[in-house]
Amino acid sequence: MIKLHNTIRIGIVGLSIETMLSSPGVIGMDSLQEYGAKDFRQGEVWMVRGILARLDAEPDALAVPLYWVTALPGGPMTTKAYRAVKTKTLQLIEEQGPFEGILVVNHGALEVEGLDQDADTDFVLAIRQLVGESVPIGVALDLHGDMTPELLNATTVLSILRTAPHRDDKETGYRAADQLLEVLKTGIQPKKAAVRIPILLPGEIAVTTAEPAKALYNSLSSYSTKEGVLEANILTGFAWNDRPWTSATAIVVSKRSAELARAMVLDLAGRIWAERKEFRLQMETAEVNEGLARAANCSEKPVFVSDSGDNTTAGAAGDLTFVLQAALDLKQNGEIVIAGITAPTTVQRLLDAGIGNSIEIELGLEHVSRHKTRRKVTALVEAGGKELHLLGFQPYRSKESAWARVRIGKIIATFHAQAIGITTPNHFSAMGISPTAHKIYVVKLGYLHPQLEDISARHILLLSDGTSQLDMTRLSWARLARPIHPLDQNMTWNPHEGLYGDKA
Ligand SMILES: [Zn+2]
Repeated sequence: MIKLHNTIRIGIVGLSIETMLSSPGVIGMDSLQEYGAKDFRQGEVWMVRGILARLDAEPDALAVPLYWVTALPGGPMTTKAYRAVKTKTLQLIEEQGPFEGILVVNHGALEVEGLDQDADTDFVLAIRQLVGESVPIGVALDLHGDMTPELLNATTVLSILRTAPHRDDKETGYRAADQLLEVLKTGIQPKKAAVRIPILLPGEIAVTTAEPAKALYNSLSSYSTKEGVLEANILTGFAWNDRPWTSATAIVVSKRSAELARAMVLDLAGRIWAERKEFRLQMETAEVNEGLARAANCSEKPVFVSDSGDNTTAGAAGDLTFVLQAALDLKQNGEIVIAGITAPTTVQRLLDAGIGNSIEIELGLEHVSRHKTRRKVTALVEAGGKELHLLGFQPYRSKESAWARVRIGKIIATFHAQAIGITTPNHFSAMGISPTAHKIYVVKLGYLHPQLEDISARHILLLSDGTSQLDMTRLSWARLARPIHPLDQNMTWNPHEGLYGDKA
């Protein structure tokens, strides 16, 4: 499309990383996946693709891709890496500006070493300070992020994912761009209201395909279509981080009226709070041995089994071999695929041994997030390489790193030099494993990501130990704002206590 001269230039930036404070290791420079201006249109980039679709369809608007950074979830981001990304982002906005508007694609659960502030807040505040109060900023977030009064204040409009497992990143980016264009074209000054809701909601108990999250998220479009409202959204929050800002949040942005935004958000928050006891694991769950046995004895195929305590897409390290060791003792006939174990030294030894050769390895010697084990097994190296090449953009993409596929008795296992999120059939195919032909597949996830959900005949979530384990009452808390459900049973609360935002 040929753009007119009176073009509305909109800069696109973002730092979208989910971090788990208790996870060992850090997200440093070498974990980052950086997208420069020319990369934004290569493949289907998370949320950015929706932003581009909306801006490209607007005759007067020009999308100006600047810089977007992501990484596989992990421990906190290093100060050095964060400063580098923030500095480059601000520099690009300054050099290529002025812009009529800015769109920011973040996650909402970013934590940085030594930064005693929510890092998404720090990032957006820095952009706000640079561009001034008059330039609208639209922010797109994952629903597993947190909100703060400062972040809300620095933002003009917000769009947040409405599905978990996530299937609507494109729509979310589209909505963020659409709202920003409405602000720019009409000159409205949106009013925002939010309620911090004291609930810990790990993603697995708030999947939007099951109640009560399903009805709550479905109701958002009806708030958003009410006269005078731009959007209503819900953040479930990132429940594992022991931070004062960890909680669920309801947010409503109206076109003009602070009173309307407040009334709507109090209503929405009240409805979420009323359902608090209904949020629970509703998928099939089992302790490790029981779940593996159930998978082996059922008639469906393929069965996907998730090692939820070591969920790399929530930030866990992927280092634990407890499920693999349990599977070795399982009495059954079929083959079990166990994919995505982080073990850099083991990978190197296996690659050194060479394909077609067997060596002895010790399972659990590279555990970092839980106690080590030393179980010796003989592993036949079947495949491997210095990099694992995956086609196209993958949400939760991992850096390409060395990997090896081995056979240990009836188990086909894959080890990786860096943590990896096995989220698509393509991950298996890339390692020479059929994603559907085997009976059981064990992955380091909580809920199944969409492309695996679509091919699985059955899913069993293992209540395994690890930094992403799902029993919140077993974690230790020091800085979390209390009281909070479900740690503080029988607490009373009403939405007015958590209300913040524009006063008028
Ligand atoms: Zn998420």
